[in-house]
Parts: sequence; structure tokens; C-alpha cells
Amino acid sequence: MNASNFSLRLLEWYARYGRELPWRGTRDPYRIWVSEIILQQTRVAQGYDYFLRFMGRFPDVETLAAATEDEVMHEWQGLGYYSRARNLHTAARQIVEMGGFPTDYEGIRSLKGVGDYTAAAIASLAFDLPRAVVDGNVYRVLSRYLGISTPIDSTEGKKLFAALAQEMMVPKRAADYNQAIMDFGALQCVPKSPDCLSCPLADSCQALAEGCVDTLPVKQHTTRVRDRYFTYIYIRCARETLLQRRGAGDIWQGLYQVPMRETERPMTAAEVEDWVGEYGRWTQLCTDHRHQLTHQRLHADFYLLEAERRPPIEGTWVMETDVQHYAVPRLVEDLIALVGGGCAAPD
Ligand code: SF4
Repeated sequence: MNASNFSLRLLEWYARYGRELPWRGTRDPYRIWVSEIILQQTRVAQGYDYFLRFMGRFPDVETLAAATEDEVMHEWQGLGYYSRARNLHTAARQIVEMGGFPTDYEGIRSLKGVGDYTAAAIASLAFDLPRAVVDGNVYRVLSRYLGISTPIDSTEGKKLFAALAQEMMVPKRAADYNQAIMDFGALQCVPKSPDCLSCPLADSCQALAEGCVDTLPVKQHTTRVRDRYFTYIYIRCARETLLQRRGAGDIWQGLYQVPMRETERPMTAAEVEDWVGEYGRWTQLCTDHRHQLTHQRLHADFYLLEAERRPPIEGTWVMETDVQHYAVPRLVEDLIALVGGGCAAPD
């Protein structure tokens, strides 16, 4: 292995092909932090617009710290993985209490919601600290280039790749190197059918030499996906509708929704009738509307109840024209759009 050969070629590649992104070319730790949190579990193309909007609404850490949770969630609406937004908000308050953004790795790592990857990204991009990032792109590039089949989700694999990432980096160019390897993984050494023919590392890539590009990186656990069945009912009663706030301990904590029941299998018409039939006329709008989360596949049925009187279901009655001011999950947003309840499109 020749670390400097690898790193220098990577940096040359980055100078030519690196992505131009709105959070590049800055040393502002707040901007870098927000962009990194948005980009966790979000594609760059989608994250781009959200980042610009979020920065427009909360241009600095003080503004974010002073906002309410509802304001932050509303801005985050549609991005998913809402714990990211809650942690961002909590950490903004931590930073303001500290008197400013921490400038060392340990201080950055102590912020709520900041793990090893994000701390290394902020430390290197904002403060030039020689900390190598390790994300999915880095695992892929290093496992292929070095021909390593140790599972990346094993304790041994995590340690090994963290050490290798550190060893391969150019300490004096930590910011460029980290961005280079991530872009390289995102654009060149992609998960499926990487373009090895035009790769500047092809002559020394172990996986290519051994014909095992498609099998690397190795993961020991495949994630089991759970199916869940949700039945939502949008209640319309004298131009008002009922919203409920989701509690802790499940997805979408703190977001709003219309009344929903979760069952082991889709609810039958008779069950819906039992639930709300006595309060007015109900119609089914949509069946098995799917929404995929990392470990869950949600199956949603949507109903509209034109109620003659308010059913005794807990929640807050709001004017239908005000629904758009509440942060709701994407599924509920789809239902509101179907009903024509006035919810603004997310993007
Ligand atoms: S040769 Fe192929 S597998 Fe190896 S680093 Fe380049 S793109 Fe990745």
C-alpha cells in the first residue's frame, strides 16, 4: 500500500471533478455542521434546497437557539429523520451556552447529535484539524482500493477502517482530503457498477486486480425491514380538522398528524365504520400508500370523514387553512394534499 500515492491522486482527482456545493468554500463551523446534519440520510440533490432554506431561516447559531421546537421542525418538514432536527436545536443552545462554537475535536464531539463522522468533518473543514472522516463512501473506497473484506459493521472492521482512514489522509490538507474521498465515493467509486475504466486509482486498486469490486465492502448484518399498517382519518368538521402531536418513543416525535390507528394488518371497512361511522360520512381516499424508512415499510390507508359533529378523539381542532403551519410527516402531507386541505408542498 502506498498511502501518499493514493492520497495525492485522490486530491488531483478532486481538484478536477470535486462537486460545487453551497456549503463548500466556507470555514464557518455553523454552516458546515448544518450541512453535514442535513446530508446524513439525505441525498445531496434533495439536501441542497433544504440547506439553503434552513440557512435563510436560521442564518446563525443564535437564531437557531432562539427558535421554538415547532419552528425548527416546520423548516425540517419532509426531510425525515426528525431526531436530527431536534438534536441540532438542542446543540445550538449548548453552543450558545458555551459562548461559541467549540474549536477542538472533543468539544465538537460533545454536542448533541454529533458523532465521530460529523465531528471529524467539522474539525477538519472548519479548523483544519487532521481528523479523517469515515462514512459509507470512505468504507467503500478504502475496502475496494485496499482489497479488505473485514465486515465494515463489525467492531474489528470499524476500528480497522478508522485507523486506515487516518493513515491514508494528508494531515496538512485534511479538509481537501476528506472532501476528496467522500466525493470520490459518491461520484467515481459508486456502490453499483463503478467506472473503473476511467479511475485514476485503477492501476493499484486491489479489488479491481482481484475481480472483487462488486463484493466489497462486506457487511455482516443485513437489516430486517418491518412492515407497519397505519390508518389515517382526516376529519372535516365545520371547516376545522383535528391534529394530534406525536409523542416520544416512536418515529416522528413532536410532529403533528391527523388521527391514526396502527394495526397488525390493514383496517377493514367495518373497523373504520366502528371507529368513526356514527359521526358522519366517511370515504376511502387511498389504500396501501407506501412510505419507506430505513428499517420500516409503512403501509397507509387514507380516509376522509365529513363529520356532522366532533368525534371525541383527543387532539387540537384547527382551521383547515392553518394546517400548513404545522410540521407533519411526509405521509400526512400526502394525505392533506389529497384532501386539498391547504398544506404547502414540501419542495
Ligand atoms: S478502480 Fe474501481 S473499485 Fe477501484 S477505486 Fe477505482 S472505481 Fe473504485
